[in-house]
Amino acid sequence: MPNAQQATKDESAVIRGVPTGLWIDGASRSATGNAVLSVDDPATGETLAEVADASPEDGLAALDAAVAAQESWAQTAPRERGEILRRSFELMTSRADELALLMTLEMGKPLAESQGEVAYAAEFFRWFSEEAVRVAGQWSMSPDGATRLMTLKRPVGPALMITPWNFPLAMGTRKIGPAVAAGCTMVVKPAAQTPLSMYALASILQEAGLPDGVLNVVTTGRSSAVMAPLIGDPRLRKLTFTGSTEVGRKLVEQSAEQLLRVSMELGGNAPFLVMADADLDAAVDGAMLAKMRNMGEACTAANRFLVHESVAEEFADRMAQRMAALRVGRGTEAGVQVGPLIDEVSRDKVSSLVQGAVDGGARLLAGGEPVGDRGWFYAPTVLADVPADAAMLTEEIFGPVAPITVFSSVDEAIFQANDTEYGLVAYAYTKDLATALHLAEQLDTGMVGINQGVVSNPAAPFGGVKHSGFGREGGREGIEEYLETRYVGIRP
Ligand code: NAP
Repeated sequence: MPNAQQATKDESAVIRGVPTGLWIDGASRSATGNAVLSVDDPATGETLAEVADASPEDGLAALDAAVAAQESWAQTAPRERGEILRRSFELMTSRADELALLMTLEMGKPLAESQGEVAYAAEFFRWFSEEAVRVAGQWSMSPDGATRLMTLKRPVGPALMITPWNFPLAMGTRKIGPAVAAGCTMVVKPAAQTPLSMYALASILQEAGLPDGVLNVVTTGRSSAVMAPLIGDPRLRKLTFTGSTEVGRKLVEQSAEQLLRVSMELGGNAPFLVMADADLDAAVDGAMLAKMRNMGEACTAANRFLVHESVAEEFADRMAQRMAALRVGRGTEAGVQVGPLIDEVSRDKVSSLVQGAVDGGARLLAGGEPVGDRGWFYAPTVLADVPADAAMLTEEIFGPVAPITVFSSVDEAIFQANDTEYGLVAYAYTKDLATALHLAEQLDTGMVGINQGVVSNPAAPFGGVKHSGFGREGGREGIEEYLETRYVGIRP
């Protein structure tokens, strides 16, 4: 049972150490009219802190700072930009415990997972510190031999970054890292529910030597009203968003006015395929990771378990045992493996998806109900025989719920896996190389995990197809999102 205690001394000290004003031009300042926004602990519902609540004018002041810094930042030597990222990586690593505690407090995930996210987030800075000095153009002769063709790379210009609450640091560093490396300035708007991690990150980047105005952070309780004037401002050149498909679609429409360069990392509905020949021990381990990382609140979370009929019963039983044994509670407590969901709306959505599936005939093998009388906890849940028309098979569950359905042939598995408007990631377990390669080619997603339940890796291009968005973050591709190609024709 969750123990909904109040913030301890350590917790209060960590929160007090974070600047809570708008971060504009290298300084923390109040919002217009001293407006504030409260940040709550999802494990208790208690208010942890208040942060500045920006007005549209405050948002534009942040863009002014980014625009003013753009030219000199673009001229800063790549090595210097890389060294700032490298120092930021080191500072994040040395302060991993404080950053992890802060993240657990505002977002809810268990401390061990927050520590994992701090390491993952910092790795984007290390990766892009190395990429900063590898940006190159080309030189070639035109086919008729008359002209030389030279291409060079330029930073896109000021970028707006809008990030979600589920990975409060990593979704930021995945954008900030390549933008710093490429020479872009930026305005970052973190989710209203998890602003503290981003403010902590802004002060780390400053300590690492990032010049004032390169990174500006605004928090607001009126995202739409505060972001729209920036997106419509001709000085902004790039919009990068991580969040829901619904909001992403609106932002793409808004970005058409100024024809912005756009990257969209949106929702998912990941299938997790267990083939007849799969190593079941490995498949269950992978399934637990793919499902329970971040309490299921991940765009990459396995949303549908498609299991071959010959192994479905055993897989479901083992999953039910593993899920039922997980310890639910406040993420700061030792031994807790499952924290609260982000808020009441999210928990109620999970409850109603489970109820809908059970009403439609699904068999409940574990969980199936909220936990505790404070905070937004939901029991790890396993459902078998989930009917094909259950809403949880088409919508993002975003919670600790594993629905299992069966298939009888590889073709049927591929058809079911691809039968969704989303296309972020798919997972498959098989011992057969030919089946693995066939699945890697046929699954209609931006990423495929073969015999592994986590695909996120700063050195790999993260991103989706279809309604999961476009653009890639991380890998060699990541920096390209922040660069333009200029071609120069030279007649010798
Ligand atoms: P969300 O509601 O779309 O919000 C994401 C961000 O957009 C927040 O900062 C939010 O601010 C802001 N926002 C909302 N409406 C806006 C508007 N009209 N104009 C400008 N900004 C607006 O998503 P979420 O609930 O935070 O995050 C969960 C979603 O993110 C899931 O669908 C998940 O799959 C997706 N996600 C995708 C990836 C990926 O890489 N593909 C990674 C992580 C998460 P407020 O906080 O003020 O609402």
